[in-house]
Amino acid sequence: MTNQVMPNFIIKRVSLTPQREAVRFEGKKYTFSELYEKSYQMAGQLSGMGLKKGQYAGVLLNNHVDTVCIYLAFQLLGLRAVILNNRLTADELAWQINDSKAAFLVTENVFLSKWEVLNELLPKVKTILKEELAETDFIEPAIVEEINLDDICTIMYTSGTTGHPKGVLQTYGNHWWSAVGSALNLGLSEKDCWLCTVPLFHISGYSILMRSIIYGMKMVILETFNERAVIEIIRSEKVTIMSVVSTMLNRIEAELKDNLPAEFRCMLLGGGPAPKSLLEKCVSKQIPVFQTYGMTETSSQIVTLSPEHSLSKLSSAGKPLFPSQLKIIDINGNETAPKVAGEIAVKGPNVTIGYLNREKETSEKMMNGWLSTGDIGYLDEEGFLYVLDRRSDLIISGGENVYPAEIEGILVSHPAIMDAGVIGIKDDEWGEIPIAFIAANSELSEEAIFEFCRQKLAKYKVPKQLNFIAEIPRNASKKIMRRELRKLVE
Ligand code: ATP
Ligand code: MG
Repeated sequence: MTNQVMPNFIIKRVSLTPQREAVRFEGKKYTFSELYEKSYQMAGQLSGMGLKKGQYAGVLLNNHVDTVCIYLAFQLLGLRAVILNNRLTADELAWQINDSKAAFLVTENVFLSKWEVLNELLPKVKTILKEELAETDFIEPAIVEEINLDDICTIMYTSGTTGHPKGVLQTYGNHWWSAVGSALNLGLSEKDCWLCTVPLFHISGYSILMRSIIYGMKMVILETFNERAVIEIIRSEKVTIMSVVSTMLNRIEAELKDNLPAEFRCMLLGGGPAPKSLLEKCVSKQIPVFQTYGMTETSSQIVTLSPEHSLSKLSSAGKPLFPSQLKIIDINGNETAPKVAGEIAVKGPNVTIGYLNREKETSEKMMNGWLSTGDIGYLDEEGFLYVLDRRSDLIISGGENVYPAEIEGILVSHPAIMDAGVIGIKDDEWGEIPIAFIAANSELSEEAIFEFCRQKLAKYKVPKQLNFIAEIPRNASKKIMRRELRKLVE
């Protein structure tokens, strides 16, 4: 806790560069000044609905310029936004809103079927529709001119890959230091323009908005991801940076016929393991991929590979950003030697202060400012991080550590395999053995896959059993839910 204050980010930005282009959405451009006007208007209407400083309110919205303005209106009013993933089912949303104890939900007509169910499940939560807001009486809003960096700005739930999602508290300071750390790594140019086709409700998208306001940088927002549109917009809008997860990058790489324009300088790849075959394909097409590692708890990237190492350290996630620290610890809590895998622990001003309404989990995962991530990785002799997998998914077979993500990366590099998931099952001889679930797009013999794996993987890593299924279960963040695969076995 530092108790430092700063001017409210959007107010400061407007006073510095009001006429600079801030957002482009559906072919229309908005300057910072226009963005502020719209946000101020919405702040007055939200006040008219009875929202007040310090309250927690849910937000369930699509990628849209209005969403940006609602988020900024929340910051102007000092409201704490419980930002919800719009791909969740009504039941999942109800669980999170209930868990956060939010008294309001700001949403929009396209989610009609969801909020109708929510109204029934949570009758005490007041729903405010974006479409109604426009007709609401404007009350002169009580604007927070000065923010405290320790104040809570947003709450985002983790993806729920390993269990129930947890509400991560993200302060203004977390967002500020995340944006600063990113710029000190990627550099900053007046020409920068960041393409946001990742969801604004996820930290990957929200952090682009914060960078736009803090840097004074244009962002282009797309409602959904489409590889063809992305390639066109990179050219027409002179995009220089874009955030992607590996499934998006896969589709861009497959669609891309010529090189991307020279001013496009960074494809920021995060959110999950990056298959080496994909990274290699990107190298040959000169796509400037920067691998990153981060999580909701670190308010986006905390480790990123610098451009000068993108080839020599292919498949490394890089080094911790300037404000942040990282160590690898063994089960006794001691730091491991280089190349020895252990749990990744991180520390820094971009790291959360804890989970909402979860003191026990917070104290279990955080000690002296260090957050235990639950992920396994190792550092090489030069301090570059290699992320292996989640601790809970590690398979120990005959005393050897087997990481499902590595096997999945090999499987999906096969042209006929669309998606793959690997888990460990109990085995009398080896303790545990890896087995694979495969979604293939054409007839494939088991033997062909075994042979493919034997060529690329050490014997103990080759899955001992293959199961063909129509689709690999993934959550709303598109992460493999290995616990669902485990249920299939049981
Ligand atoms: P939950 O915490 O509820 O189980 P989650 O961890 O999937 O969900 P997120 O915060 O969205 O929720 O995801 C962060 C996780 O994504 C990291 O902890 C890590 O497991 C994975 N991840 C992120 N970047 C990388 C990377 N470069 N390589 C491998 N895994 C990564
Ligand atoms: Mg997590």
